[in-house]
Amino acid sequence: MSASRLARDNAPRRVDAVVIGAGFAGLYAIYKLREMGLSHAAFEQGGGVGGTWYWNRYPGASSDSESWVYAYSFSEALEQEWTWSCRFPGQAEILRYLEHVADRFELRPAFAFNTRVTAATYDEATGLWRVETEHGEQVLAQFLITAVGCLSAAQVPQIAGLEDFKGRWYHTGQWPHEGVDFTGLRVGVVGTGSSGIQSIPVIAKQAAHLTVFQRTPNFSVPARNAPLSPAQIADLKANIKTIRETCRWSTIGQPYDWKADEALKQSPAALRAQFEADWAKGGFEWMFGSFSDLLADPAANALAAEFVREKIRDVVQDPATASKLIPQGYPIGTKRLPLDADYFETFNRPNVALVDLRDTPIERVVDTGIRTSRQTFELDAIVFATGFDAMTGPLNRIGIRGRGNEPLAAKWSAGPQTYLGVCTRGFPNLFMVTGPGSPSVLGNMPTSIEQHVDWICELLTHLRAVGATTVEPTAEAEAEWGAHVKALADDTLFPQADSWYMGANIPGKPRVFLPYIGGFGTYRKLCAEIAANGYEGFRIT
Ligand code: NAP
Repeated sequence: MSASRLARDNAPRRVDAVVIGAGFAGLYAIYKLREMGLSHAAFEQGGGVGGTWYWNRYPGASSDSESWVYAYSFSEALEQEWTWSCRFPGQAEILRYLEHVADRFELRPAFAFNTRVTAATYDEATGLWRVETEHGEQVLAQFLITAVGCLSAAQVPQIAGLEDFKGRWYHTGQWPHEGVDFTGLRVGVVGTGSSGIQSIPVIAKQAAHLTVFQRTPNFSVPARNAPLSPAQIADLKANIKTIRETCRWSTIGQPYDWKADEALKQSPAALRAQFEADWAKGGFEWMFGSFSDLLADPAANALAAEFVREKIRDVVQDPATASKLIPQGYPIGTKRLPLDADYFETFNRPNVALVDLRDTPIERVVDTGIRTSRQTFELDAIVFATGFDAMTGPLNRIGIRGRGNEPLAAKWSAGPQTYLGVCTRGFPNLFMVTGPGSPSVLGNMPTSIEQHVDWICELLTHLRAVGATTVEPTAEAEAEWGAHVKALADDTLFPQADSWYMGANIPGKPRVFLPYIGGFGTYRKLCAEIAANGYEGFRIT
């Protein structure tokens, strides 16, 4: 092949927009870009669509939002034709749903799968993003839309000796597609966040023996999953428009909101009756559809925490195990509240043991298992349910460079700086779906994603309409937004916990509250106002 032909064949493709990620966000972004007639290229690291639901195939993985709202709302036809089997669908069903969406709207052909983006660099001279992939492909694009999720950078702890382990080890967020059969095995699970709490009861039923390595005990609320009856399905479908509209304006993107009442104003009997009634319903509503002071007033929060502690004591038969499982020292709800199916009950099984790592920390992994300061636990398999480098991790690791070749990770070294969680100064025409500083992880993700993608696409339409090519937040708007996000968080109990919301789960990560906590409905209203005021806070050129 001649050199000129080679150069021509390797010349970067030129498109209007590049989308990274084929989960809920990336699929919808492609749907919208195509509707707007913008040319696009899209890359996905995984071998198929699904994002979170492509990777998190661990036993027991399921949604914590009710199926009828953990879904797209952009297509009435889709809402009517898709039928969920149960209240909280499992990973396989959600993945089937996203595959159905990809096929129904012919979104798959837009994506290059098994293709990691290795660099995205803004060229000030041309005003274009140069996006490079692991396969050497280069694309030039005016707009770069990251749809990489908030919890997609899996975190395997740096524990000495892991390479010596003779058994198999797994991270819940990178689960083998062929599944894992734990039958007859001695299994250790490290971590008791949502992933651990969902997987532990299922693994316990399969394994010969399960050892749970717990660093911080967690509060958890029963999910009470159940199949949907034909009557419920008919009712949900008949009312879905109203249900989704309520989500759009609620605090956490769910079809309920805080009650007007405060816990501290209730009589003990009324408080208990309400807590019990919500507990019996299952799901997040127990906390986030409950009294309005639970996450703002320490005394109100303590009432809720004590209620759950009592429930744990009631369920767990061995008092020593119960006492290790009972969370102390941080307000309930300030670490992301897991939903569970018989999590605490699992510790009554004869084949399950709990190791409290605060008493006996892990010293190292050895060839036969995990050694704590007290003993070695012989294991055939280790499951790390140890979480993610949340919100900033997935963006920092792409290799994004803005004006002056500045790496995004360098700009954010002391914590993320964004305007509305969507854009960041110095990185023109970069749009982050559910980026840091957005409400995203504090609510129902599909609700957040649709709002972000719609808002971004309206902004792109606006740029075209006014003949502009570039949009970027001003320094003032970004600084104000950062201060606002911080002030709102500081007004709550959230900063008191060592949570991934605070970046506290990643050694060396700045301690900054990452999401916007002012409420999803408020945020949506604010975004709409900013747009109506000619995109206040943005420099459009
Ligand atoms: P996580 O909430 O960050 O929990 C990680 C767990 O691992 C914590 O118990 C943590 O202890 C422990 N851990 C981390 N490093 C450790 C180490 N070096 N040694 C010992 N223990 C260690 O992670 P996750 O459970 O994967 O959940 C992350 C988020 O993903 C959730 O909060 C949720 O937003 C989302 N998620 C959602 C669903 C759902 O909707 N169904 C399911 C799963 C996950 P510490 O608490 O002491 O740090």
